[in-house]
Amino acid sequence: MDFGLLGLPILRRHYLGLLGGQNCFTVEVPEGVAPPSGMRFEGLRRIHTLMGEMSFALAGRALQIVDWDRTSQFCGRCGAKTTAHATERAKECPQCGFLQFPRLAPAIIVLIQRGHEILLARGRRFESPIYSTIAGFVEPGETLEEAVLREVKEETGITVKDIRYFGSQPWPFPHSLMVGFTASFASGEIALSDGENVDAHWFTANDLPQLPGKLSIARKLIDSFVTKQTQSNSKAKDTSSDPP
Ligand SMILES: [Zn+2]
Repeated sequence: MDFGLLGLPILRRHYLGLLGGQNCFTVEVPEGVAPPSGMRFEGLRRIHTLMGEMSFALAGRALQIVDWDRTSQFCGRCGAKTTAHATERAKECPQCGFLQFPRLAPAIIVLIQRGHEILLARGRRFESPIYSTIAGFVEPGETLEEAVLREVKEETGITVKDIRYFGSQPWPFPHSLMVGFTASFASGEIALSDGENVDAHWFTANDLPQLPGKLSIARKLIDSFVTKQTQSNSKAKDTSSDPP
């Protein structure tokens, strides 16, 4: 569809890249503008569970680029109006030369396993009683592994070991990059001290609470644990039915 046909006023337009051979763009429209008839504006955070993986990735990229562009119109160092860099996706200050690139805030997310159980917590910010993996932002000067150790300790009172990389996911609310890990329980008792979670428990694969949406890396971590448990259970059954 030609965006111009929608008749919306455009403030700024950005190229996003190619998807399936199609050039993709995102445009910023003025705040409060009425949507075309039969359409509405909706928050990505609210509807992302209804989207496919590819549409969510594209919409997330669009949201982050528009947000960065809108908030870097002026130089963060001297306050002069910035201009778009000629070759990079960056804002350049014509007065002092300061460059502003799109921001990314790395956050760790970790699935903690103890034997046949995993530790899930119910966050204060969740409206519904969803239990999820432990997550938190990386602090300046910290490695990802140090962030895992610190966040888990702060949020749950538990110490973990065997921290292993699992995968990552852009999380555009507003500009996180979730870096996923698995870890094993080392020591400690559950103690919710920092106020982020209202509850935390050890759960087995066949007794799980309400979980986060399928697209999230939290859910992928939990699903991979469930798959492994199911496989090892069926293997155990196979062996037990073997003749001695
Ligand atoms: Zn400047």
